[in-house]
Amino acid sequence: MRVICPKCGERDLKEFYYQGDVLALGRPDPDADETLWNDYLHNRDNPSGVREDLWYHEAGCSAWIVVTRNTATHEILKTELATSRKTAEEGNA
Ligand SMILES: [Zn+2]
Repeated sequence: MRVICPKCGERDLKEFYYQGDVLALGRPDPDADETLWNDYLHNRDNPSGVREDLWYHEAGCSAWIVVTRNTATHEILKTELATSRKTAEEGNA
């Protein structure tokens, strides 16, 4: 599988570290109930269809990348720098 890094171009999947769902990155409060911590540490959704995930170009430019992909077909629909996404969201606020 190949991933297009916005800075480096098309690269092998092995160069990237998969962080997870863009919307599910929030850590529970340090004093949160252990049920919340257990869910955060051990449970993952496995949805089918188009998803946005956060990937890190670990063996490349060290950029965080938002990858839009279809988990049913493994097709990557779009990649963009996470920093550009954050800037665009702040601009719309
Ligand atoms: Zn890169």
